[in-house]
Amino acid sequence: MDLNAAIEELVTANRILAHENVLDSFGHVSIRHPDDPGQFLLSRARAPELVVAGDIMAFTLDGGIVGPEPGKPYSERFIHAAIYEARPEVMSVVHNHSPNVVPFTVIDKPLRPLMHMCAPIGGDIPNWDIRTGFGDCTNLLVTNQEMGRDLVRCLGGRNVALMRGHGSVVVGRSLREAVFTSVYMELNADMQIKAMSMGEVTFLSDGEIAAITAGRAGFTFERGWENWCNRVGRPYISGAWETGSGYSRTDG
Ligand SMILES: [Zn+2]
Repeated sequence: MDLNAAIEELVTANRILAHENVLDSFGHVSIRHPDDPGQFLLSRARAPELVVAGDIMAFTLDGGIVGPEPGKPYSERFIHAAIYEARPEVMSVVHNHSPNVVPFTVIDKPLRPLMHMCAPIGGDIPNWDIRTGFGDCTNLLVTNQEMGRDLVRCLGGRNVALMRGHGSVVVGRSLREAVFTSVYMELNADMQIKAMSMGEVTFLSDGEIAAITAGRAGFTFERGWENWCNRVGRPYISGAWETGSGYSRTDG
């Protein structure tokens, strides 16, 4: 993928996540720089639904700005920086305030996949509390690398970590994977709230989660991505080059 393709892909991801109820005027999505793994691409501080190619900036893995500054950067770019710094296999990061997910950051009932498409969120989702390391007088924002690294320690090797009273982070080995997991995390949270209101919930087992995530690959991401592109009026470009790992199907 060349730089221009990566930027267009990132613009599309912004629009999709806004349309699918994952990002509101806030929250953000990034992609590792295709030419330099020591940098990542992220919009200037702007509502994701409005992001265009000219808004995309480059950053180092400690949150420093590289090159042109079309506007103020997101103050929480350190979430992305610290994850790329610690997880070389991660190619994309989403930070969101996904509305049905946030309730699970403030209660003692865990968010857990209950439908097969939602398995990638994992069966063991940690909940990072900024109070633990930084006291109870922060504004809850991750505004420096030290805070980002603390969040990453909680995330570990997982795809998802909740952030108490704030939102969550989602990572992927591709941008389309991170978007897919983010969309289905919001849907799972919505369904889980409804299911819990009716009674005891039967969640996916650890074995089911492992089987689904082991078999999921390009074809499944592409089917969702093509549909979501259409919804936001963005061109669909085949992403077989990105997901790469075959075409086994877990989408039914
Ligand atoms: Zn935030």
